[in-house]
Amino acid sequence: MTFAYVALGSNLGRPQHQILGAMSALDRLPGTRLLQRSSLYRTPPWGLIEQPPFVNAAVQLDTDLSPHALLDALLALEADAGRVRSQRNGPRTLDLDLLHVDGVWLNDPRLTLPHPRMAERAFVLLPLNDIAPTLPLSGHTTVRARLAQLDTHGCEKLA
Ligand code: ADP
Ligand code: MG
Repeated sequence: MTFAYVALGSNLGRPQHQILGAMSALDRLPGTRLLQRSSLYRTPPWGLIEQPPFVNAAVQLDTDLSPHALLDALLALEADAGRVRSQRNGPRTLDLDLLHVDGVWLNDPRLTLPHPRMAERAFVLLPLNDIAPTLPLSGHTTVRARLAQLDTHGCEKLA
C-alpha cells in the first residue's frame, strides 16, 4: 500500500459536481481507496486572470497502481469530464494533478514527482493542509509551514 496525494481543480461547467464526482471515481480505481478528502475551496484564477474562479480540493489515496498508471488514470478522468486543453493555465472542467507519492522521486517527460509547482500555490496547499499538514516539502518545510508563507487572499472554504 502506498499513499498518494492528488489535487483537484475545476472552473467550467459545474465545478463542485465535477470535483465530487472525481473523488468518487478515484475511490473506484483498481487497487485504490480514497482515505481522506479535504474541504472544497473557491479560489481566484491563477496565471490567466480573466476566467471564472476555481473550486479546488485534495485527496489522499491508498493505491497499488504505479505512479505512471495513476497518472494515466487521472488523465482519463479529465478526458471523461470533457477536458479540452486549449491554453496553459486556462479554464478547465477538471484538472487532476499528482502531487506526491510516498517514497517516489521522478522526473521524466510525462511525470515529475513531487509536483514541481505545488509549494508555490495556495490553491493546492490550502486543501492539502486539511488532510496532510505535516507532509514534507522540498526545502525542509511542510505543507502547514509553507502555507503560512503564502497569500491565501480571496480563497474561501465552501460549505
Ligand atoms: P497543469 O496541471 O500544470 O495546468 P496539465 O494538467 O495540462 O497542466 O498537465 C500537463 C501534463 O503535465 C500532463 O499531461 C502530464 O503528463 C504532465 N505532468 C508532469 N508531472 C505531473 C504531475 N505530477 N501530475 C500531473 N501531471 C503531470
Ligand atoms: Mg494538471
